[in-house]
Amino acid sequence: MKRGKSRWKIALLAAALAFAPVVGLNLLLWLHISANGGADIEEASASMLRLAERNLDDAMTQIVAFSMNVEHASCSEDTMKALGTVILKAPHVAEISVIDPAGVPVCSPSGRPRVVRAASGAHDTQNPNLKFAVVDFGSERGQKIVQLLWQYPDGWNVSALIPGERLLPALVVGRLQADFVSRLSLADGTFIAGKLSRSDMSVEGASAFEERTISNRYPLGITVSVPSAALWDNYRQLFLLGNAGGVALAFLSIVGALAVSRQMEGPVRDIENSIRRGDFIPYYQPIMCIRTGRLLGCEVLVRRRRGDAIEGPATFIPMVEATGQIFEITRLLMASARDELGPIYAVRPHLKVSFNLVADHFSNARVVEDVEEIFTGAQLKLSQVVLEVTERHPLPNLSAARVIIARLQELGVRIALDDVGTGHGGLSYLLKLGVDQMKMDKMFVDAIGTDRYSTAIIDTLVKLAADLNIEFVAEGVETFEQIAYLKERGVDAAQGYVFSPPLPGPLFLELIRTVDPVSSRVPERVKKAIRGAAADVEAA
Ligand code: C2E
Ligand code: CA
Ligand code: CA
Repeated sequence: MKRGKSRWKIALLAAALAFAPVVGLNLLLWLHISANGGADIEEASASMLRLAERNLDDAMTQIVAFSMNVEHASCSEDTMKALGTVILKAPHVAEISVIDPAGVPVCSPSGRPRVVRAASGAHDTQNPNLKFAVVDFGSERGQKIVQLLWQYPDGWNVSALIPGERLLPALVVGRLQADFVSRLSLADGTFIAGKLSRSDMSVEGASAFEERTISNRYPLGITVSVPSAALWDNYRQLFLLGNAGGVALAFLSIVGALAVSRQMEGPVRDIENSIRRGDFIPYYQPIMCIRTGRLLGCEVLVRRRRGDAIEGPATFIPMVEATGQIFEITRLLMASARDELGPIYAVRPHLKVSFNLVADHFSNARVVEDVEEIFTGAQLKLSQVVLEVTERHPLPNLSAARVIIARLQELGVRIALDDVGTGHGGLSYLLKLGVDQMKMDKMFVDAIGTDRYSTAIIDTLVKLAADLNIEFVAEGVETFEQIAYLKERGVDAAQGYVFSPPLPGPLFLELIRTVDPVSSRVPERVKKAIRGAAADVEAA
């Protein structure tokens, strides 16, 4: 259940991680478009305006040349020819005519000049004789024309008409990638002409970008805008391709992550099955008093049933520690030992049973609740329980560990420091953690008779334990020579193959009955009663 939830969390995290590049890609694309789009249309509207200005300049130059050099008041052949030259040299001019003081067009090379109607007031240009206005033909709605009007002092005029559309180029040289709309208007906003970069494009809806440039020589402005629809059309392929690629990649990485997590799940599920089937079982290794030869208790060492075989902890302890399954396994071992040893320990209150805990047990007070729950009211008393913490791996949080140890001790449980001499804690651990027992690592026992430095350390540790009033246990005792040496140094308690390997429950129970019969320490008058009670519970 708990693991199911965490799998979901992992899956969500993986999805978020996998899709992050897709989100990033879209963000980048959008940033790119908005940064470049704005700059591009700014450039486009400026260059369009430059073109329009140049065309107006051409027309103006031709008109000025005409008015300076040609007799305007008569519509002679020369006048006609000169007017034709204007159109030739300024091809954007559609019509040119000389207009008499009454406002009647009298002379035009392109046939009868058409009468125009003012659509705007007359604006000044840089030349005081030349006026700029927008006109139309009255009937043809929408078709607006720019009129350049040269005014002679005698009331005559020369009028050049340039259709607004001719001032807007169809093609813009620039980096503009999306389709766009260009609009020519007077500086005051009066519409003159508009053009679409693609005739069938849709200009419905809002503009994504819009830029207007105003001329400082003519009362004109050009607005370029990119409709959102056109922008989407333009980048659609890029967006679709980029996103399809990104999503495919994200999908692949999720599939990959799931495959990896499933592979890792194999052993985890395997452990879960073992837990469910009750395949983690306690083995018990006796701890003896080497002074009196009496049994002091045992250490619980976990074993895993694998069909007919029995597996030692080395193959699975590191993994179950990493997955957190060690907590459940420890609880199961405690409950099994309680049930298995309870009846026989109930009548031998001097016997102890040690359990191995891991560093993580000492960073969460849950272990206190577990121990209390498992042993309160049980035949195996809290005062018979010893909990071992190894010195081999450092405790992540010493002060939390100190609090948890103190609370366990309040329950009546004893705390042992395991593997003393191997570890990270050093002797300061003993003092800081306030343990009740130290278990000297096997390597010092191994050195007996071979290495005088290690034996000097044994002396130091034994003395330290005595000074601190801490119980001392020698681990991994394999020979009688080692027993003799330890005994000579004042060591009382020892554990090792010389006495017994870790035993399965029934064998250990038999060993207890053999080496520690109730009758040997119980007064004759209660012997009978206890034996009766013990037989009852053992039978149960
Ligand atoms: P440990 O706590 O130091 O346990 C002592 C180990 O030394 C045990 O190995 C024991 O079988 C072995 N041993 C005892 N006497 C002798 C001896 O005379 N000679 C030799 N060569 N070995 C001896 P085991 O059972 O394989 O356990 C190895 C380690 O796995 C333990 O070291 C302990 O750290 C861990 N472990 C075992 N059971 C549990 C458990 O229930 N919970 C946790 N957290 N760790 C456990
Ligand atoms: Ca141990
Ligand atoms: Ca040990």
